[in-house]
Amino acid sequence: MEIGIAGAAGRMGGLLVAAVQADAALRLVGGTLRPGSTATPPQGVALFPEIAALAAASDVVIDFTTAAAAVSHAAALAQAGTAWVLGTSGLSADAEAEVERAAAQIAVVYAANFAPGVTVLLALAETLAAALPAEAYDAEIVEMHHRQKVDAPSGTAVALGRAVAAGRGVALEDVRQSGRDGHTGARAAGAIGFAALRGGQVVGEHTLLFAGASEHVALSHRAFDRGVFAAGAVRAARWTAGRPPGLYTMRDVLGLE
Ligand code: NAD
Repeated sequence: MEIGIAGAAGRMGGLLVAAVQADAALRLVGGTLRPGSTATPPQGVALFPEIAALAAASDVVIDFTTAAAAVSHAAALAQAGTAWVLGTSGLSADAEAEVERAAAQIAVVYAANFAPGVTVLLALAETLAAALPAEAYDAEIVEMHHRQKVDAPSGTAVALGRAVAAGRGVALEDVRQSGRDGHTGARAAGAIGFAALRGGQVVGEHTLLFAGASEHVALSHRAFDRGVFAAGAVRAARWTAGRPPGLYTMRDVLGLE
């Protein structure tokens, strides 16, 4: 398979390049940088002037860049008929609608977190949320990331919130309580709360807590090495081979129900 890496000079971009180069079944076609960027891509990466050229030369493009690029990337990949493994977080509802539109024409694997452990955790979150009544168990999601992260709460935290909402049969946007500050009043029954910590070089930590009056149940995940996301994304890229158009998640890639 011929693989392109969007944002090849980024933190994830560099790890993705290394993961593709280490896989004998894959060929690294090259990558793109942010337009106007003077960053140096990792050694051995052919640079393409823009996403359309990279898409035309690749079977799959792996994209961990920035939310602002998602709409133009969706159009370019759909136009080229190239599969898309999308890990960028912080997409607006409009940008996510464009991802869905592209998925009518190409295979898209879009995941807030490509770690296998988080993929399983999301399924567990939905099961727990369906089993523990929302009135009795308050769902709170706490995450911590490195100081460079630009969006909050993290894509993974939002995915956990969506999993809880799905288990409870509600829409996350109707019950989301994010970033409490000041005189907020008492906690609303059924709310799904989010708190985001930023500091140091934390790769990613998430805890989903169901707080009942007499007991707490918590699911936690810690990533120590971004390589876990790169390995998951490369696995997803391989999985797209011969896949019909559609919007897929890591749950599909791992074959989880
Ligand atoms: P980063 O800032 O180190 O890298 C992003 C790179 O994309 C930068 O080099 C930037 O110059 C480049 N870029 C920006 N616009 C571009 C464009 N239009 N075309 C090509 N390149 C462009 O950030 P990072 O830590 O590598 O994370 C990147 C994204 O991936 C973030 O949204 C982050 O939240 C997300 N992420 C997702 C997962 C996951 O498993 N889904 C894991 C880690 C990070």
